[in-house]
Amino acid sequence: MPKPGPEPAVTTAASGRPENSWPAGRPMPRILVVEDQMQLLRALEINLRARQYEVATARTGREALATAAATPPDAMILDLGLPDVDGTEVIVAFRGWSRAPIIVLSGRTSPGDKIGALDAGADDYVTKPFAMGELLARLRAALRRDEGAGHDAALVATIGDWSIDLAAHTIQNPASGTVPAGSSPPRLTPTEWRILEILLRRPGQLVSSAQLLSGVWGPGFQDRTNYLRFHMTRLRRKLEENSSRPRHLLTEPGMGYRYQP
Ligand code: CA
Repeated sequence: MPKPGPEPAVTTAASGRPENSWPAGRPMPRILVVEDQMQLLRALEINLRARQYEVATARTGREALATAAATPPDAMILDLGLPDVDGTEVIVAFRGWSRAPIIVLSGRTSPGDKIGALDAGADDYVTKPFAMGELLARLRAALRRDEGAGHDAALVATIGDWSIDLAAHTIQNPASGTVPAGSSPPRLTPTEWRILEILLRRPGQLVSSAQLLSGVWGPGFQDRTNYLRFHMTRLRRKLEENSSRPRHLLTEPGMGYRYQP
């Protein structure tokens, strides 16, 4: 590793009038920029805002995951060298519940770092120093791919008779009428929504406890399986017809959990 010092940041500023970056009439994507170098963070923020993107910023991995959880971004620009956790851990945790594109920024040049970040779930990789215009072009391309991929943001899943809209965070009363008249849909906490989001987007698949814990609480919580047991019990009480014999929110002993549609 080279000795720590000011990281080279941006070689050329975008010049002239910002090009039109997003189709008119659509809400502008929200971009989360994660970078501990203040000058570069500011430069990115200014350039993105100049193109009308909504911008949120974070300077550490933990702050990034907390900010992403509070208001999910449409894309993330992520520096790999962060002061608290490795950027790759942020990718893994974010990928636990979101498919929004991640573009990695890094001063590291070894192919291993690049492969590691891509394997963890990053979509693209820009090496510092970089040209702002190139980064913005890659961001637009990643957002277009994401749009074209028929984003699953509108996913509606069912648990028994409940119809659960993961984008709107609403639970609809069943049509089949097996729930007693007058009973209202259960209300879920933000933590319960995030657990459901991770499970319901992978119907039939085993999701490991570590994946859920890092996706919901962030890196460093992989051992807190008691958190999961507590919240899964509550989710089952709220959503399963018989919470002591769950049919949809299943435990895979010693491994994790599975959503069975
Ligand atoms: Ca850094």
